[in-house]
Amino acid sequence: MRDYKTIEINITGIVQGVGFRPFLYNLAHSLNLNGYILNTGNAGVRLMLQGSSESIKEFLSDIRKKKPEISFVEEIQINYIDIQDEFSDLEIKKSEEKCGISQSLPPDIAICEDCLKDMRNHQYKKYYNYPFIACALCGPRFTTVKKLPYDRERSTMIEFPFCQKAEPESCIQEYLDSKNRRFHAQTFACSVCGPHYTLYNKKRDLIHDDSIHLILKKTANMINKGKIIAVKGIGGTHIVSLADDETILKLRERKGERKNKPFALMVPHLKLIENELKITALEREYLISFRRPIVLLERKKPINNSIISNQVAPGLNNVGIMLPYSGIHHLLFDFIGEKPLIYTSGNKSYIPMAIENEDIFNQLHELVDAFLLHNRQIYQRADDSVLRIHDNKTKLIRRSRGFVPEYLPLPFKVNIKGALATGPELTTTGAVLRFNRIYPTQHIGHVTHLETYEFLKSSLFHMKNLLQIKDQEIEFIACDLHPEFITTKFGKELSTQFNVPLYPIQHHFAHILGLMAENRVESDEKIITISTDGVGYGDDGNVWGGEIILSSYTAYKRLGHLENQLMIGGDRCTKYPARMLASILLKQLKIEDASMIFNDLKLQNDLEYGERELKTLISQFREANHQFPSRNIPLTSSTGRIFDVVSYILGATNIKTYRGEPAMRLEGLASIGNPDNIKLKVNINKRNDVSIINSSKLILDIIELAKVKKNRPSDIAAKFQIELALAFANVAKEFAELYGIKKIGLTGGVAYNYSFAKSIKEEIQLEGLTFLEHNQVAPGDSGISTGQLIGGLFQHLNNK
Ligand SMILES: [Zn+2]
Ligand SMILES: [Zn+2]
Ligand SMILES: [Zn+2]
Repeated sequence: MRDYKTIEINITGIVQGVGFRPFLYNLAHSLNLNGYILNTGNAGVRLMLQGSSESIKEFLSDIRKKKPEISFVEEIQINYIDIQDEFSDLEIKKSEEKCGISQSLPPDIAICEDCLKDMRNHQYKKYYNYPFIACALCGPRFTTVKKLPYDRERSTMIEFPFCQKAEPESCIQEYLDSKNRRFHAQTFACSVCGPHYTLYNKKRDLIHDDSIHLILKKTANMINKGKIIAVKGIGGTHIVSLADDETILKLRERKGERKNKPFALMVPHLKLIENELKITALEREYLISFRRPIVLLERKKPINNSIISNQVAPGLNNVGIMLPYSGIHHLLFDFIGEKPLIYTSGNKSYIPMAIENEDIFNQLHELVDAFLLHNRQIYQRADDSVLRIHDNKTKLIRRSRGFVPEYLPLPFKVNIKGALATGPELTTTGAVLRFNRIYPTQHIGHVTHLETYEFLKSSLFHMKNLLQIKDQEIEFIACDLHPEFITTKFGKELSTQFNVPLYPIQHHFAHILGLMAENRVESDEKIITISTDGVGYGDDGNVWGGEIILSSYTAYKRLGHLENQLMIGGDRCTKYPARMLASILLKQLKIEDASMIFNDLKLQNDLEYGERELKTLISQFREANHQFPSRNIPLTSSTGRIFDVVSYILGATNIKTYRGEPAMRLEGLASIGNPDNIKLKVNINKRNDVSIINSSKLILDIIELAKVKKNRPSDIAAKFQIELALAFANVAKEFAELYGIKKIGLTGGVAYNYSFAKSIKEEIQLEGLTFLEHNQVAPGDSGISTGQLIGGLFQHLNNK
């Protein structure tokens, strides 16, 4: 047979439900290749192709280059086959019987350009202004699918059978026509057969349920008049309103708690905000991608007639922006006009976002003036994802819609069929291990309420079921080391339920393990990592959070840390930075000297119970002092607490109203400062070969600097971030030399701070060392469950 070759190709990854077969068909067709293409039962695509070597070569190189954006190719296996038969044509064959393990489900996909065109074409009756339009390349996936394999009957679309008669063609005709964009698409519908929106007032009386045109007009009118509306969407419910000062203040007042929490904005297009916010190429790429996350964009210098109110994100130097991703968003802008809108998750503080219409009414009736709800069930709740970019590296803050259920492939072979991790307690996720892949759940939140606990439980089990892991295949459970966490108790329950070992993994070691795996550190390699965050339960029972750690996948050693500080009153120090500052000062000064500083700073004003609380605090300290360190007063090496205190001293924060606020406000203040105007150095001491970064002196120095009029708080803030970063980097470098280690990493929630992270990175790279940073796993606590599974895995293999 001439120059003809026959090749069998097997592709795995996320290649089903993303229009992958039509893509391969068209590519093969354009290269004159014959043969066939089919979906195999277990999450892959198989091709048998015949043609010239040249064409086959081109085909292979084009797969990754030209594949649909939403697909993910993990592996391409090729076999040249020796056969005599010649294929006479090219076809997409019927899928193999769906059996085996299906591991391929894409995340929810933003509405595509073609569907948008159909939705705005007033001649295309069945789709005109119809918000649930979708096709094989777009629409909800993760939030609607109950089970795999991915088919309509296993999704919430089962309640909406395809129409048989509609103009110009019915949905069933579209579904069966191999030339149609909706060929074998599972989650589309039209106005004849699909779900619909209804508008209710806050008393649940019907306002409109007939024409979508009237519903949109009425909703837009209300929003333009300053009303606040709950809008049910793809993976949950948003609270939507204008983004002017007055409306935002009204919304904040109704929300009550966490009153300074930043809101995300949705804008119809990026031109609207380009004058005010910086957008790098990668940020733009994310914003317009099918994932449509909220991207934190940095503010430019203030301008006149700004359309972004300062009330959106008080005290911060960046604003969360997202673009419309479902039909209803685009339609609302069509009727409201071109302006930024508040699009924030429709939940009460600390409770997951409501997704059932009944719950939406109950949870939100005090917050909103009307409800725009649809009658399609949301099977899995998924909040909007949030991220920021540091020099082309992705820092996931909240990994949810548009990302879940994608997985992290591990850099080594694993023969474990299934394992579960329950995460930390705050901003948590769960995670599932299936062979060498880790699948984190969607963002869960703080597991401090029954509702969030139930959400964690159901998400974890949903992920296990999606991956078709049988109960008897679960080999171990991993959880946090903290004995009192609800998630640790949940881990214990699971371990009993499945009768398998439980591996508690130290918080910072879990952060580090996630970092190691995503940077594909080898299984016998060692690295040093700076792990800086707010709270992590340490081996010694203290609260860790400013750590320099030597680790492999199996073990870790604490090489250095921030000085231990007292937390008089425990967790109250986390909520009230003034209380944390009082604790730090009392530890190192005489009570009289500390009290003078309290007076200067009027510190009692920023405690919940004022003067009375300050007095109690001092007597608590007195009582404990003669047996220091006292069992009644916890110790912490948390970087987060030091950021809180500096933010407080410099006037960026008084009281914390949401997690991370003081540190974020400090970053906001520092962004307008010049560090070169300030002199500041951080001292490092050695105790029993462990390096201790002296935070007591650092805080006193900052108090002194702040007293001097010519020192601008913003300059001090900028200098502090850099000097503290350099102290960490220097300790890490010193030990890297001692141990002959070439890779130094950074992880933990403080790694979101751009200047802090950048200073460490530059210092490490200056020495020719490799800097490891996050790009796929979240630096914050939502990345912990991934690390727990890796830690558990290595302990389990050792025990076997
Ligand atoms: Zn589409
Ligand atoms: Zn239809
Ligand atoms: Zn952490």
